[in-house]
Amino acid sequence: MIYDLIIIGGGPAGAAAAVYASRKRLSTLFITSEWGGQSVVSEKIYNWIGTPSLSGNELADNFKKHVLANATGKMTSSTLEVKEGEKVTNVAEALLPQNSESKASAKSFSVKTELDEEFLTKTVLITSGSGRRKLEAKNADRLEHKGLTYCASCDGPLFADMDIVVIGGGNAGFESAAQLLAYCKSVTLLHRSDTFRADEITVEKVLKNPKMKAIKNVDILEVKGDKFVEGIVYKDKTSGEETTLKVSGIFVEIGQIPNTDFVKGVVSLDEIGRVKIDAWTQKTEVPGIWAAGDCTNVLYHQNNIAAGDAVRALEDIYLYIHTK
Ligand SMILES: Cc1cc2nc3c(=O)[nH]c(=O)nc-3n(C[C@H](O)[C@H](O)[C@H](O)COP(=O)(O)OP(=O)(O)OC[C@H]3O[C@@H](n4cnc5c(N)ncnc54)[C@H](O)[C@@H]3O)c2cc1C
Repeated sequence: MIYDLIIIGGGPAGAAAAVYASRKRLSTLFITSEWGGQSVVSEKIYNWIGTPSLSGNELADNFKKHVLANATGKMTSSTLEVKEGEKVTNVAEALLPQNSESKASAKSFSVKTELDEEFLTKTVLITSGSGRRKLEAKNADRLEHKGLTYCASCDGPLFADMDIVVIGGGNAGFESAAQLLAYCKSVTLLHRSDTFRADEITVEKVLKNPKMKAIKNVDILEVKGDKFVEGIVYKDKTSGEETTLKVSGIFVEIGQIPNTDFVKGVVSLDEIGRVKIDAWTQKTEVPGIWAAGDCTNVLYHQNNIAAGDAVRALEDIYLYIHTK
């Protein structure tokens, strides 16, 4: 059997794509290691449009329910198969037998999983997302989601009128600081080197805010707090002096790690491993492979954006299969 489409990943991007693929009657295999994606760990999500608030686990359950309601077994006419708890390990161009049923597209692909299963498909949609680079400091793990967080637009309003710290001097750090200045009493940005990676205009604009302060050239040593964050300890790399700041929130923006190892050498990746796409269509540089959501090299990462990008990809995949 050769599928029309294989979707890899069950976060908002993959789930949205699966529902659309089924409704468009594309013969589709949906493979995910887990349901829900990154925000499954969030206690409350307040910006998933149409639902004023829900937990990350509820979001994951809703994705699963919605996808399975459109899958084979639930709908007699469904063309969507689901494999959960399975990880894709490799995607490669495939040589098809002569009398192959794949007439529509010039290329086909083989998708292999960690259980040594292999599937053939005309098109692939990569929605495998990413993980955040974690802060390595004493107690950082223990106080994650207890004042230490990795998402300013998700959790910022919870820190209204509080003193907080942002860690990271790239654009993500400064943009998070800019968002947080709208609610917080003060924002201190801590950066590990003596030059910021963010562009100068952003740095200048954010630092103009009287509630904002930035400290360069520091190592973060420890997060203080019993049940919730109460402070942070950092060391000045030049003087060696250690300082404790009393803060109620810590926002970490020290980079993302995209889940794209399984397509290295197959599609073009940027310098940090994100799949390069054409934002007009979500196409990668390889005809027949699309990508959407946090695994791609686009600005801004949110659940609603990931789902919307995946729907755009699906529309384009449908046209490719039926008109090319
Ligand atoms: C702590 C935290 C809280 C957040 N809170 C919010 C919020 O409140 N609101 C908001 O809009 N955004 C929030 N975000 C951002 C949001 O979660 C992401 O933008 C969104 O999840 C991206 O969706 P995605 O589908 O592209 O990827 P992901 O959510 O990363 O999902 C990827 C999926 O692919 C699967 N997968 C990965 N590799 C493979 C593989 N090789 N084979 C098979 N499956 C694979 C994973 O198991 C996962 O299910 C938050 C992010 C974090 C880190």
